[in-house]
Amino acid sequence: MSSIELKAVEKWFGTVQVIKGVDLAVEQGEFIIFVGPSGCGKSTLLRMIAGLEETSRGQIMIAGRDATAEPPSKRGLAMVFQSYALYPHMSVRDNMGFSLKAAGVPKAELDRQVNEAAKVLKLEPFLDRRPRDLSGGQRQRVAIGRSIVREPTAFLFDEPLSNLDAALRVEMRYEIAKLHQTLKATMIYVTHDQVEAMTLADRIVVLDGGHIAQVGSPRELYERPANLFVAQFIGSPR
Ligand code: ADP
Ligand code: MG
Repeated sequence: MSSIELKAVEKWFGTVQVIKGVDLAVEQGEFIIFVGPSGCGKSTLLRMIAGLEETSRGQIMIAGRDATAEPPSKRGLAMVFQSYALYPHMSVRDNMGFSLKAAGVPKAELDRQVNEAAKVLKLEPFLDRRPRDLSGGQRQRVAIGRSIVREPTAFLFDEPLSNLDAALRVEMRYEIAKLHQTLKATMIYVTHDQVEAMTLADRIVVLDGGHIAQVGSPRELYERPANLFVAQFIGSPR
C-alpha cells in the first residue's frame, strides 16, 4: 500500500488549469522531491495533498483511504512552512507542544513527546528559550519539531530552507536528511533548487507547466533525462 497516491489529479483556478492530470504513488518512508521552475504548480500540488486547496478532479489516497474530500486536520499530515510562524511569546517547549495541548493530550504524554522530538532535533538545550533567542536554523528545527510531535503519516515541506542563508541551508539540508533516516517517515518536499533535490531525494518528480515531465531517482534523471526540459533543469550533460 502506498503512503500517498495521486490519481489523475487536476486543479483549476476558474477557467485556468494549473495541475493537469498528475498520477503518482509515494511509498511509505520515501523522500520525494517536487522540482520545477517557478509557477509550474509545485506548491499547489503540495497544498492539494495537505487539503489546503480543493482537488478539482481526481483522487488523493492517504494510507489507503480516499482523502480527497477530507479537511487538512483529518489527513494526518504535517505541513512545514517556509516562514516558521512560531509563537513569539511562547517558549520552544510550548511552541512544540501547542498542537498536542490543543488536542487535549495529557501533560505527561505531551512532555514525553516534546522531549523525544527535542532529542531527535537536538533542541534540548533550547527548550526554555523564546524563538527570538534562537538562530534561523534552530527556529526551523522548532518548526519541524512542532509537526513531529503529531506523529504524522507524512511530512510536507514547501521550500523550507529558502529563507536561510547559504551556510545554514547546507546545515539544514543535512539535518533534514538525518531526520528522514531517523524517523523513516514519508516526506514530500518542494524546492526549485536542483542541488537540494539531487542530494535529498529518493525520487524526484519534475513538474513542467502542471504536468509531470519525469519521475525517477536523481541518478536516473541525471543519466537518462526523458527530454530536453528535464535535462536542462537537472543540469545533466545530454
Ligand atoms: P510553484 O509553487 O511551482 O511556483 P504554484 O503552485 O504556486 O507554483 O502556482 C502554479 C500556478 O497556479 C501559477 O500560475 C500561479 O499563478 C497559479 N495560482 C496559484 N495559486 C492560485 C490562486 N489561488 N488563484 C489563481 N491562480 C493561482
Ligand atoms: Mg511555490
